Amino acid sequence: MTTPQSDSIEDRLYVLRTRWERYVAEGRFEQFIEFAVAVNSLAEYFNRLRLPGLVRLCEGLENAALAKLGDASTHPIPPQDVGALQRQMDTLFGSVATSRQPNAERRPEEPVAGQADPDWIKPRTIWMMAAAEKRGMADALGRQLSFFGFQVMDLAWQAGALPEEMPLAVLFIPAQDHALPEDVERITAIRAACPASQLIYLGVESAIEPIVALMRAGIDVTIPAEDQPAMVLNCVLDLVQTNEQEQYRVLVVEDSRVAVALIQRTLAQHGIDTCAINDPGRLLEVLESYKPDLILMDMYMPRFNGVEATRVLRQMAAYSSLPIVYLSGESDVGMQVEALRLGGDQFLMKPFNPVLLAAVVKTRIERFRQTRRSTRLDGLTGLLNHTAAKSRLQAMVAKTAAHGALTVAMIDIDHFKAINDTYGHPVGDQVIRGLAWLLKGRLRSIDLIGRYGGEEFMVALPDVPLDKAQAVIDRIRKDFAALPHAHPGGALHATFSAGIAAYPAVDTAAALTEAADTALLDAKRHGRNRIERARFN
Ligand code: GH3
Ligand code: MG
Ligand code: MG
Ligand code: MG
Repeated sequence: MTTPQSDSIEDRLYVLRTRWERYVAEGRFEQFIEFAVAVNSLAEYFNRLRLPGLVRLCEGLENAALAKLGDASTHPIPPQDVGALQRQMDTLFGSVATSRQPNAERRPEEPVAGQADPDWIKPRTIWMMAAAEKRGMADALGRQLSFFGFQVMDLAWQAGALPEEMPLAVLFIPAQDHALPEDVERITAIRAACPASQLIYLGVESAIEPIVALMRAGIDVTIPAEDQPAMVLNCVLDLVQTNEQEQYRVLVVEDSRVAVALIQRTLAQHGIDTCAINDPGRLLEVLESYKPDLILMDMYMPRFNGVEATRVLRQMAAYSSLPIVYLSGESDVGMQVEALRLGGDQFLMKPFNPVLLAAVVKTRIERFRQTRRSTRLDGLTGLLNHTAAKSRLQAMVAKTAAHGALTVAMIDIDHFKAINDTYGHPVGDQVIRGLAWLLKGRLRSIDLIGRYGGEEFMVALPDVPLDKAQAVIDRIRKDFAALPHAHPGGALHATFSAGIAAYPAVDTAAALTEAADTALLDAKRHGRNRIERARFN
């Protein structure tokens, strides 16, 4: 028997249900908080798995719970409120059951811990419901998607029976740019049948009212008529982005062991990793090694107070924008304002409300990461940009043991100018994104993939020797050549050339890049759509 692990769906549902039942039986405020935390953490979990329908239901339940949170004196809440929450719980559990129907035979007692991503969670099927008028466009899109590994099922716009298995996403491609009442009905029915799927509506007019109507019916994403089909492909591919979100990390600077235990417990329930120190004197050393996304800072500690520690950090470039949230029993508003003025981002009162603490921490970190992403990632492809790729390669080389393996490839699309000239810049962009997606789909999460220049990419594969790397890149080369890129008049094909160089024959980041680049020029000279090795290898 496995011990319950926080990352299995069964366990999370079980925790939520038992907490709710406990509250219903005993009606204590703290039990209600535990229940609300469990709802929030389930929403978070579904969000990570990109199950928007279930996220919506959880959020609805969470909002309803927060509305009744109150304080110790308002609990137990009146029976009619319990009844209303119970109905929302039932709907949520019903929807989870519906979305798992393909595997319904599995006994619920069966241990699922350890399989963090059971198959049912990520069906790679896409239903396409296209109007007859949009057949050509739908077919082109379907072909593209199948090249990236999706199973596309064509359903007629008016299709009666739905397939058994839930899709990852449903694409609606209507004949006209406004939804008719029967279309809305159809969408509502599909939303109910597939609570966990992403519903995408292509070709909406850019006005608030129709978009709101579609969202009410259950559409998650609408794509304006002008944007298709390139945007659609990106949108769908984004849903299955393999790069898993890194866990959030919070450094807790707090001298009270009770407070630390409470904070760590709350954050752990939300899947947030924590590290705690009780002496702010160790702050710099721990920041360096732990690299947190946020600091929860106590106000009163021995030696320095939280505000003094924050002021020091704000003077250091590396930490000038790291989110810092104060946790304090200080209720003097003037004092709080002063603390914020001196570099803190937010002030939370002790004793803290766990739901609020987790929400503040998560939103602060999400925003912090977003800004950091936008400076490190390339906007068109989401890959590391030139600067970030270079520094990542340096770090990789530094980490490679003297006799370890690391192969670098420079990849450049062939005759790309001609593609731009013939089909236009937007189609060229789509070809660039196509290659980016193929690389992301085929390489491991530990590999470096960067957009090094316009249509030039840098790839680095740690622990992979030259021969193996060449085979991997060559496979991608062949598949890229076969990948159709849609354009208004049909589909085009593109190829790339690559040069590869490997450590330790070439032993610095700069030399690896240069050697791979020279090999790339050889590949171009020798006729393109091929891979050449660096001369030293
Ligand atoms: P070769 O096979 O020798 O690589 O030929 P090429 O035509 O690809 O030559 P080159 O690499 O010099 O051309 C790159 C072109 O890519 C030039 C530039 O206009 C175009 N380009 C650069 N960035 C972008 C971009 O973000 N989008 C699009 N559509 N084009 C870009
Ligand atoms: Mg203290
Ligand atoms: Mg080129
Ligand atoms: Mg180039």
